[in-house]
Amino acid sequence: MAHVEPAHLVELALGNATPTEADTEALRHVDQCARCRDELRVLTRLVNAARTARLVDLPTAPPERVWRRISRGISPETNTPEPPPRVLDRRTRAVLAVLALATTVGAAVALRCLHERSRVVRCRVIR
Ligand SMILES: [Zn+2]
Repeated sequence: MAHVEPAHLVELALGNATPTEADTEALRHVDQCARCRDELRVLTRLVNAARTARLVDLPTAPPERVWRRISRGISPETNTPEPPPRVLDRRTRAVLAVLALATTVGAAVALRCLHERSRVVRCRVIR
């Protein structure tokens, strides 16, 4: 069997859908393939990190003294603008968590695709 498709590895890491025969076959391959096993392990860690992200892990506005210094550095002759709100509402936090997960998974898939393409190019050069 060829390596498990990146999108399928993402689905396995998310573990949202009811397992299918294709999932069973993919997991059988993962058991025997170090590369796919490593990628699934990384993706699973990313999914778990995103799912367990807490408010403290999400981006917030800088402390007020830092904000004032930044503002003075950018435009010293004008008044310091109000800092952005420090506490994000629940919806914004959820959107940021989803965006962080999507970005992370997208980056992982892109890296895998790049790795796959460079391997194909190397094989063609060798032949
Ligand atoms: Zn594999």
